[in-house]
Amino acid sequence: MKRALNFNAGPAALPFEVLEKAKEEWLNYNGTGMSILELSHRSTEFESVLNNAKRLLAELLDIPDTHEVLFLQGGASLQFTMVPYNLITEEKKRGYYVLTGVWSEKAMDEAKKLGDPKTAASAKAMNYTLIPSIDDIQMGDDAAYLHITSNNTIYGTQWTSFPVTGSIPLVADMSSDILSRPVDISKFGVIYGGAQKNLGPSGVTVVIIKKDLIREDASHLPTMLNYHTYYKNNSLYNTPPSFAIYLLSLVLQWTKDKGGISGIEKINRQKADLLYKTIDESEGFYSGHAEKPFRSHMNVTFTLKNEEMTKKFLSFAKEEGFIGLNGHRSIGGCRASIYNAIPLAHCERLADFMLRFKSRN
Ligand SMILES: *Cc1c(COP(=O)(O)O)cnc(C)c1O
Repeated sequence: MKRALNFNAGPAALPFEVLEKAKEEWLNYNGTGMSILELSHRSTEFESVLNNAKRLLAELLDIPDTHEVLFLQGGASLQFTMVPYNLITEEKKRGYYVLTGVWSEKAMDEAKKLGDPKTAASAKAMNYTLIPSIDDIQMGDDAAYLHITSNNTIYGTQWTSFPVTGSIPLVADMSSDILSRPVDISKFGVIYGGAQKNLGPSGVTVVIIKKDLIREDASHLPTMLNYHTYYKNNSLYNTPPSFAIYLLSLVLQWTKDKGGISGIEKINRQKADLLYKTIDESEGFYSGHAEKPFRSHMNVTFTLKNEEMTKKFLSFAKEEGFIGLNGHRSIGGCRASIYNAIPLAHCERLADFMLRFKSRN
């Protein structure tokens, strides 16, 4: 069967083996005579799917006992609201944000609706081609948390090392690079991400939170916006996105079978290196958006010498079967999203196409 050359930014390609496994189990999950879609979320079968997903994620990311994994809905976008709701207190009343792209701006905009967040550092004036220096981050005594976006899906920049924030919780939107490389979870207060890039399908949001940030006394918060609700009920307070959690568990098992995070990271690096090399050796035919030290291993952004050539590239690419190479509607240009599930062979096909397009034009 022919698989599409899918470079979509999210929802994105899923591992073929995961889709096959889901198909196998589709009509009769684990001998129940029911599809996973039909199981009660209170059944022991589903609870073990959920617990298995938690366990695999903890194993793959080496999550310490100080942290808890929660499964929520509402996407990363709802976390833009839940983070300030849950972390801001009377005394620590301000969220600080490092602005590195559209998503961090959106996160801060939501915090503005609840309080008065401040910019801790920003790369906006540089058209988000880089990540601000860690030394330039500024926070006051009122800091409830520092918020960063570990990988900027739209601009194609990525943090390579993280700020050390001491007692101030570090909060990271890792939607587009969670599970793509090793991260020291103990350094973070909250990590969150919609699953539809590296973890599985849309519909489930993963939150990894330091337990001491889950407040038992936050009953003034709306129930569904309170981390404690999910913590207390093993993410089963109400009906969870059961099918999405099931697929997530399959993607996690697949990741483990691929050699875990270190195995995946190695392949990710090869994929990214190949595409960036193609850009760099094109003598300016292609130019990368991100400055070299900040290049994302997940979203490779580039333009051609003018709008017309970019359009031509995208239309030829489409004809050859490449999907999703257009840049985000907010910045244009081209973007190849190469999350964990994208095989190296697809990147080789793309690099080959880029070379051929260049020599013909
Ligand atoms: C895709 C993305 C989002 C938005 O996620 P939703 O799940 O659609 O809300 C937020 N942040 C980053 C970094 C993303 O890549």
